[in-house]
Order: sequence, then structure tokens, then C-alpha cells
Amino acid sequence: MELFHSTRSTASQVTSKQAIRKGIASDGGLFVTDSLGDKPVDVAALAGKSYQQIARTVLASLLPDYTDAELADCVAGAYGDQWDDAAITPLKPLGDDFILELFHGPTSAFKDVALQILPRFMAKTTAAATDPNAANERIMILTATSGDTGKAALAGFADVPGTGITVFYPDGKVSEVQHLQMATQKGQNVQVCAVRGNFDDAQSAVKAIFGDGELAWDLANNAHTVLSSANSINVGRLVPQVVYYFAAYAQLLERQEINAGDEVEFCVPTGNFGDILAGYYAKRLGLPVAKLIVASDKNNVLYDFLTTGTYDRNRPFFTTISPSMDILISSNLERMLYYFADGDTKLIASLMDSLANNGRYDVPADLLAKIQAVFGAGWADEDQIRASIKDCWDKNHYVIDPHTACGYHTLANTPRTPGVPRVLLSTASPYKFPRAVLEALGEPAPASDFACMDALATLSGTPAPEALRGLEKAQVRFTDVIDVPDMTNYVRTTATRLAQ
Ligand SMILES: *Cc1c(COP(=O)(O)O)cnc(C)c1O
Repeated sequence: MELFHSTRSTASQVTSKQAIRKGIASDGGLFVTDSLGDKPVDVAALAGKSYQQIARTVLASLLPDYTDAELADCVAGAYGDQWDDAAITPLKPLGDDFILELFHGPTSAFKDVALQILPRFMAKTTAAATDPNAANERIMILTATSGDTGKAALAGFADVPGTGITVFYPDGKVSEVQHLQMATQKGQNVQVCAVRGNFDDAQSAVKAIFGDGELAWDLANNAHTVLSSANSINVGRLVPQVVYYFAAYAQLLERQEINAGDEVEFCVPTGNFGDILAGYYAKRLGLPVAKLIVASDKNNVLYDFLTTGTYDRNRPFFTTISPSMDILISSNLERMLYYFADGDTKLIASLMDSLANNGRYDVPADLLAKIQAVFGAGWADEDQIRASIKDCWDKNHYVIDPHTACGYHTLANTPRTPGVPRVLLSTASPYKFPRAVLEALGEPAPASDFACMDALATLSGTPAPEALRGLEKAQVRFTDVIDVPDMTNYVRTTATRLAQ
């Protein structure tokens, strides 16, 4: 059985079910397996397969202790009619390139791909599956969100038996639509709270809460609750995203744009490095990926790292019109470093130590060279984002959201390799950010985001997703705003209340 261990130590080995249940390793590292890619996926057999079939094949290779029947059950539940496109992640031509639409799920952002299935993965880990002593144990999901994860996680976990979920988001730093999506969430087991600070503050506090032994003891004994993570640090969040890289390839095969074995490039709007890391996992599983191009917004810490080898978070934090990419600590980079450093856990532990203590680290030149052979990088400031939205509309009559626009801008400035198709991952529906998009298109933006949605629908001829348009009349349930140091107690109180 292929086991998982921390990126920072191999001392403790767990199954994929245990890794998914736990979320993050006890030493603060992320779960990885050294068997990644040992069971490659047959690329030639992809053409003509449905998304669900591809998902079962890819997930079987990544989660070895789930049975085929368990995976089939998870996949059928996660990728059903809550998606408004039968292809789940349809690929469309965009100029000389292609765009992979990842926003057809219930919350209109790509995070639905992972968060519709993660609760189902977790349900298969309960009680007897992992520890017979834990039969009555409840999992409480704890998530810090820069805007989109929170809603997608709430939608995935709402009223799932045996689970609860608490979501923290940075107060005033998410869009009106994002805020309403979370604050109006229905369900008996959900809690939403704003935090004074930015996303990194909230995420660091959540990581510290996971490492808080006293709290863990208290929750286990007084609330029969164990904390887990739905952030992309959870391996169960990461692996479902590997699937759509294969699904994109299958659609290119069907369109006869490529033959099996031909290389493809992907450009990915990036924040926490989860989405693009899934592309690297796909490459390790045998998908012919020439390059993975990271696209950042003005918080371009990844661009600097990939071009210089120095990761330095000591820099101003910018709140931009692409809030889900406003991140200075890209957690999943740690997994990428682990694989490129050939599993040198000591090196990773020391780099992460340096990041925690000094806010920065440098990787050796030979390591950087290996990384650069796979990963390209670019970034867009807010004017470039707006110009890209306008340019894409003018050239293609296709509206992109501000996150996707960072990728559009990056691709436009990346030299094309002749004969290698390029796929831009579109991470959100433009209707999640209707004001920024409308302004970018040079249209007057009305006062409310909902009037902006209507104006955008009229202009583009495509209706807004009903779940977004309907938020205007939805009932706000959550209004708490707290300080970072109060998050631990908030978690304690919520877990205790939900356990009753
Ligand atoms: C989360 C998110 C991203 C960044 O994805 P990562 O996996 O964190 O790199 C980009 N765009 C949108 C719309 C998102 O919600």
C-alpha cells in the first residue's frame, strides 16, 4: 500500500484516507506520497471517455486505499446534475488557444470541482474505515478563504452527516457576491465569520489552530470532534483537480487538435498553488505537459520566486480585483518543492522554518533550474487585468473574470511553442465579479452588484447563473466579525455548539 507522509519528515506514515481525514500533518507539513506516478494513466485511452470515467481512473491512481466502488460512488455524487454542463469542465477555442471552463459547478468557481467530492471522500473515512474507536467522532472542517473556497466548501459540506464546517474570511476583502454567497449559506452544521486582517493572517491562524494540541484534546474529549481542513493543503482537495487536466487532453483528442502523446501547455491563474500543482501531478501521472505557466496578480511573490529562486513574503499586500489570488504564502508550493528536491524532507523543513521565522527562503540554483524547466511564470497588474478582459471580449466575444484575465495576460506575453496547443484554465464565472468586469469593458457600473450582473447579461447575451442572481433576495444568516487572536475560542465554541 502506498502511504503518505509529511513533506517535512517521513517519520509517520498514513493511508490516503487518514491523510484526507487529518488534512495537515502534525508537524505542519503537507501530506505527500513517494508513489506519485507509479501507476500512470493511459493517455491514448482517454478519447471518448466521460469526465466521470476519467475521474475514476485518475483518482484510483492517486488514492490507492479507496476501492473502485467507493470512488465510483464519490464521483457519481460529486459530478451530477449540480453542474450546468454535461462535460463538467468544457474546453472551448479562444483565439489561437483554448479555454477550459472550470466554473460550471454550484458556486461558479473552479473550487467546486474539488469541494463537491471532498465531503464524499471524507464520508468514506469515518468510523470503522480508519479507527473503530472513533465511531461517534464528528469532523469539523476549518477553512480560511480568500473568497471562493469558503462558499464552495460550505456548499459541499452543508448538512453532510458527521461533519460541521467553520469558514473564516478577511473582513471587507471579498466581493459583495462572495460575501453574500457565504453569509446566506443554509445548513444546520455551518458557521461563517469575518476576521479583521487579510487572507494570510486568517490562513496562518487556521494552521496554528490545527497545531494546537490543547484545543485538539479539549474538542476530542468535550465535543467528540476532530478538526480537519478543506483548504487545498488537504490532499483530498488537490487530487480531484488532477482530473480536469486529463479531461482537457481528452477533449483536445476528440477535437483532433492533437494525437495521443502530443504535448500541451497549461496556463493557470494561481494563488495557493493548488490548481497548478494538480497540473504537475497530472504530468507525473503521464500526461504530456510541456510547460505549466503560473499566472499571478499584483501579489507576484510566485513570479519572483520562479524567476529568482528567492521566496520573500516581506512585501506589501495588495487587495485587488482578483481577490482569490491575493496571497503571499502559497501553501502548496511546499509540495512542489518536495518533489523537485527528490523527497529531501530536511531541506523542506528548513526552508519552511525560514519562511515562518524570516518570511523568506532561497532555493539552491540547481533546484531552481529543475523547477524552471517545468514552470513558467507571469503576472498582471490591475490595469492589465482590465485591459485583458476588454481585449478578450473585443477579439473573441467571450467574457472572462479578473482571475482568468491574469492568465490571459500572461499567455499573451509568453512566446508560443509552434505546434503545442495552449490551454488557459478559467477559474471563475465573470458573474462572480460583475462590477470589475463591467468596468473593464468600459460600461457604466450601477450601484449594486446585481444590477451589474443584469447589465453584463444584456451586454454579453449570456444569463447570470441563477444561484448568483438569486443572492439578492437570500436571507443573511452570519454577521460575526472577530480579531485574529479570538479565532481559537470561536472554533471551540462553534464545535461545542454543533456537537449538541
Ligand atoms: C482559488 C482561486 C484561484 C487560485 O487557485 P489556487 O489553487 O489557490 O492557486 C484562482 N482563481 C479563482 C477564481 C479562485 O477561486
